[in-house]
Order: sequence, then structure tokens, then C-alpha cells
Amino acid sequence: MNDSTSPSPSAFDDARTRLDAVAQKIALPPGTLAQLRQCKRELAVHFPVKMDDGSVKIFNGYRVHHNVTRGPAKGGIRYHPHTDLDEVRALAFWMTVKCAVVNIPFGGAKGGVECDPATFSAGELERLTRRYTSEISIMLGPDKDIPAPDVNTNGQIMAWIMDTYSQEVGQTVPAVVTGKPLSVGGSEGRIEATGRGVVTITRELLLSRGEQLPNSTVAVQGFGNVGAIAAGGFFRTGAKVVAVSDVRGAIYNAKGLDIIAVQSHARNTGSVVGFTDSEPISPADLLLLPVDVLVPAALQNQITVANAAQVRARYIVEGANGPITSQADEILNANGVVVVPDVLANAGGVTVSYFEWVQGLQSFFWSESEVNAKLEQILVRAWGQVRAASERHQTDLRTAAYIVGVGRVAEAIAVRGIYP
Ligand code: NAD
Repeated sequence: MNDSTSPSPSAFDDARTRLDAVAQKIALPPGTLAQLRQCKRELAVHFPVKMDDGSVKIFNGYRVHHNVTRGPAKGGIRYHPHTDLDEVRALAFWMTVKCAVVNIPFGGAKGGVECDPATFSAGELERLTRRYTSEISIMLGPDKDIPAPDVNTNGQIMAWIMDTYSQEVGQTVPAVVTGKPLSVGGSEGRIEATGRGVVTITRELLLSRGEQLPNSTVAVQGFGNVGAIAAGGFFRTGAKVVAVSDVRGAIYNAKGLDIIAVQSHARNTGSVVGFTDSEPISPADLLLLPVDVLVPAALQNQITVANAAQVRARYIVEGANGPITSQADEILNANGVVVVPDVLANAGGVTVSYFEWVQGLQSFFWSESEVNAKLEQILVRAWGQVRAASERHQTDLRTAAYIVGVGRVAEAIAVRGIYP
């Protein structure tokens, strides 16, 4: 179903196409489907920021709660030139499903500011973050809505969000945001959690098919928080990461890249491009390499009808949110490419965000090994439940994950009832 009046493909419409298909499969009550096809609350803000040259610029920002039936709204904040309300709605919907798939007590939210942070000074970035936080603060709160990092946002930005909110309410509230630095109540293991989870889920996938990570070939698109950490994790397990990319380009080495060295090159130069022990390839070709595992870990809509038929990876593990369109999914399924969906594959981040929130509320902090052990437990359990649903319903893993996640949200909606 396409509700969009805009000519460009709508990420939220695409998300709803998948929801509609699952609704049919699990006989979702029509009222529940209608509820989940919309976001509960949407705030658009247009706010001024003083730039270093004395000018004032107006920025567009968004915060959306898709559904909060299972708990407070949870979801990252993205700074990107192409962020818009449609994208934020889709990302918020995926957060609702993701939190339910791993069975943590949150609803789904997302936020974004339409901007290119690479062009800002540190002062401009801080002023933009603080003003955006203040503009959306009516949505936020440790029991209401807890943001986290996403594309182009990080621990420092989360610390500014926490500080701004705390100044406004007159007390320090660490649990209002996750992905914070350790010095202000962050959790051990949070930075690594999403990438670590991608590796854990890939390991489980391979094991379920009688295969193993060591010596498997892997290509990773995107070398940020998710991609670089996942690539490092694959490398440490003995997998051969043959290609990685970022927004500036892609590099390849058939014998496997030394990812620790690539990480250090990227830290020093700002990109993976130019790494010595590699050859440059086109970023588009990275997605078509004949590898065992392809990990898209950059942005949405990377595998579409335009390139899905040429994908030669055997498995795709979605580090990014929404990297494969629903039409591309059909082509991949028909070609026997097994896809582990975002709502399971990258759920390690929100899972450790949940741990950070719990630790913040209790002011009682865990060791990194406790965090990692609990993360492993939750992801392996979720993997098992999704795999079982896929066998029970004879369906692909994405549909199975939606059956598990949407089913849990629907059950919560049913037992809470409709107010009044
Ligand atoms: P990030 O800003 O840290 O990194 C993004 C990376 O993608 C950068 O290396 C950037 O250069 C690269 N990139 C951007 N456009 C690209 C392109 N066209 N081709 C190749 N590379 C490109 O962001 P992140 O936090 O790593 O997020 C990446 C994806 O993972 C997003 O879809 C995000 O929603 C999702 N995600 C992030 C988290 C998290 O904890 N950070 C959790 C779950 C999902």
C-alpha cells in the first residue's frame, strides 16, 4: 500500500508494506493494524542557531514516537542533510518492532535534524544540539522518551542533550539519554554494542547452518560506530573482511584487510580510503561482491530493485536500519540470499541502551563483562525465537522477526485495551 503523495520512495510506506504483509499472516485485528500504521506523536521543530560568523540559521528537526504501549519511547537522533519526517517515522516504527523482538520494555521513537554536521564548528554543533533538545524537551524524559546516538551523533552530543534537559528540569537526569560517555553515567560496552551484536547474530546464523565465522568472507558498507566495530569483531574472530567502505569510497583486499590497521588509518585520516594494503573499488561494487556475509552498515535503501538481482553474497546481516527495500527483499528471497533483518541484527545497541537506562535509574553500574554477558543472552534468545518463528511459519527471517515483534506489541495493545 502506498500512502505517499510525494514522487520519491517513502521509507515509511515501505515499512508499512511489510507490516501489512505480517498483519495478514498473524491475523492482526484491523484496529491494531490501523494503530501501528501511524505514529502516535510527531513533533516538527524549526529553530534558530547562532553560527560562528554571526549569522542565524534556521534548522528543521523532528522527534517521533511511533508506539509506547510496551514502555517509554526509545530511539536515536540522527543529523543528516536528507533527514525528513518520513525517514524519522520509518526509523521510529522499526524501533517499536526492534525493542519488541529483543523483548525489552520500550516503545519506538526516533529523531533527526536536517543538517550536515561536518560543516559545523564544535561550538555550532553544541548550540544546535542544545537548542534542538530544548525544542523537543516536551517529548523527553527518563520515563517518557530516551534518545541515543545514530548517524553523525555520538557520546558528546548525548552528554549535551543530558545536560540541557537537566538544566531545564533543575536536576541531573542521566537516564534521559543513552550512549553517554562513562563520566556522566554511560554504560561499559555501549559504544561497541551494536557492532558486537551484528557479529553475535552472524555467528548464530552461520552456526545454525553448520558454518563458522573463521575464514568466512565478509564485506562491510559504512565504517562508523556500527560498521567499524562490526568489521573489527569479524576480524578478531578470524573472518576475512575483504572490503569496507565509507561515504568517501571503498577498499578491497582479497586476502582480507587488517581491520585494526584500517581503524587506525580511518581515525588518523577521517576515511578508510587510501589504506595502503588495499585497492580502491567502487562503493556500489562492494554490495555485489561474492562474499559469504554482506553487512550494510551505512544508511537505508542501499539494496533496491536496481541492484538486488546482482547481489552475490550468501547472507546479508543488516547493521543499518532499512538498507534493503521490500521489493529488493523479494528478489533476494527468490535468489536464496538469507537476510537477517535490522530489527534483530542491530538490536545490540538498543539492548545495551536499555542496560544503561537501568543502571542510570539505579545509580548502580555493571562491569563490561556483565554487560556483554547479558547482551549475549538477550541476542541469542531473540535469535532462537526468530529462527523458531521462521521454521514454524515457513518464512524468511524478516517476516519471522516481525511476527515475533509485532505479535508482542499487539498482545500488549490487547491487554491494555483502548482508553477510555
Ligand atoms: P555513523 O555516523 O557512526 O557511521 C555511518 C557510516 O556510514 C560512516 O562511516 C559514513 O561515512 C558511512 N556512509 C554514509 N553514507 C555512505 C554511503 N553512501 N556509502 C558508504 N558509506 C556511507 O552511524 P552509525 O551509528 O554507525 O549508523 C549506521 C547505521 O546503523 C544507520 O542506519 C543507523 O540507523 C544504524 N544503527 C545504529 C546504531 C548505533 O548504535 N549507532 C544502532 C542500530 C542501528
